[in-house]
Amino acid sequence: MATKKKAVRSKPSGKKSNTIRLKFDTSWSYAPAPESKSAATIDKQYDLFINGTWQKPLSKKYFSTINPANEEKLAEVAEASEADVNKAVDAARTAYEDVWKKMPPKERAKYIFRIARIVQEKARELAIIETLDGGKPIRESRDFDVPTAANHFFYYAGWADKLEYAFPNRRTSPLGVAGQIIPWNFPLLMAAWKIAPALATGNTVVLKPAETTPLTALKLAEIIQEADLPPGVVNILTGAGATGAAIVNHPGINKIAFTGSTEVGKIIQRAIAGTNKKATLELGGKAANIIFEDAPLDQAVEGVINGIFFNQGHVCCAGSRLYVQESVAKEVIRKLKDRMESLLVGDPLDKNTDIGAINSKQQLDTIRKYISIGKKEGAEMYESSCRLPGKGFYCRPTLFTNVAQSNRIAQEEIFGPVLAIITFRTDDEVIEKANNSPYGLSAGVWTDKGSKIFNMTKRLRAGVVWANTFNKFDPASPFGGYKESGFGREGGLHGLLPYVQLTS
Ligand code: ADP
Repeated sequence: MATKKKAVRSKPSGKKSNTIRLKFDTSWSYAPAPESKSAATIDKQYDLFINGTWQKPLSKKYFSTINPANEEKLAEVAEASEADVNKAVDAARTAYEDVWKKMPPKERAKYIFRIARIVQEKARELAIIETLDGGKPIRESRDFDVPTAANHFFYYAGWADKLEYAFPNRRTSPLGVAGQIIPWNFPLLMAAWKIAPALATGNTVVLKPAETTPLTALKLAEIIQEADLPPGVVNILTGAGATGAAIVNHPGINKIAFTGSTEVGKIIQRAIAGTNKKATLELGGKAANIIFEDAPLDQAVEGVINGIFFNQGHVCCAGSRLYVQESVAKEVIRKLKDRMESLLVGDPLDKNTDIGAINSKQQLDTIRKYISIGKKEGAEMYESSCRLPGKGFYCRPTLFTNVAQSNRIAQEEIFGPVLAIITFRTDDEVIEKANNSPYGLSAGVWTDKGSKIFNMTKRLRAGVVWANTFNKFDPASPFGGYKESGFGREGGLHGLLPYVQLTS
């Protein structure tokens, strides 16, 4: 690691002056530190994981999954048709009736612990594959996604034989077969969020990863095989929206757990209306991050950067709206711009990279569309001056000032590294603005005053409110939204409830 500190003599202005102005280029230039791909094995082709074995798709179709960092093909994966979904649901039903629901809870727990331990053992490989398939920086997948996924399995393994303490004086029974559909932003972690509580409560699973990031779910299928989970307890089907719809509409499914767009969430709600299927939906977000004038500003700026730029803004709870108190707005915006200049955008496998690749060409087009909408709406755009790699899908960290509350960039989910900044004067004003959103997944408050934190967190209509931090997760704490951000909670004790029937 070496710093470039260049002293630059300012150009002679014509007038004689003895002053030499020194400009310091404070940007750090790091030697490349790429993680080696050799620790990961990716097969050329993957079939469907049904009933504990790899089965060729009845559809006979496969599709490619690519590395968004360089657009190279990584593997071909099977596309599950309705007939394949039928097979998987049948396998899950048989496993549920014959094995899983009858198994003593402490025995179920042992399997879940085993999965957790194998995820830990294979952490390096899983992190590399997550980064290759999804474009997120290796630092993120290595330090956050994979360990948190393992922790979810550990956490829910612990609950499996203690449900009577989770629901005192109530009897619980499992629901049956859970259909679980997950998005591309946290592929392994979302699979863990969904599979772990379902298994702990005695349900069996048919899970579909997103079409652009199927590989870590398929690696998880290998882990499940290695853990010797009884056949059919977890089935993993790859495919796109039609496969997801076939799972949702299958009459043998008792519960749908979905994380993804609000648009698809609404389709799912319509599809299951009038059926007996239970559902939890974790949908979009447009989180308000609020900085008060008494906040520790450097810490707040780092929190904002972490909240929207790390992980390319591909987080439903990304702090994509920044409300900053007018008296400190100039200072905060200057600090944000300075910090944005130091962010490293590029090869996601490089351990120095802060912002990796956008997950797909389609998502990059969406982000670009919103950037041009922001400019047309009259907001002032600033993007960092970093150079982007020639191949792959990348976007510079971007912020907009002079944003009106009604602007689309302040109302709609962009799902990219784009921040909309709005100023405010009073507590009441910022509460009204922050809550003026169709979403209500998360929010953040930055202030020196404990009383203000309590006052704001009570009034903000968001499922999770962070105070003087942002994007912190723990398997023991529940996560989920209000309004168009969905319903139901995942994580913690609350995450068990959507998978059980409470009787007596
Ligand atoms: P995003 O906009 O984040 O890609 P989507 O809601 O489109 O989110 O996708 C999330 C997941 O939902 C993916 O696994 C996708 O294949 C699946 N999906 C897409 N359309 C449907 C549908 N009509 N029914 C069920 N699942 C769907």
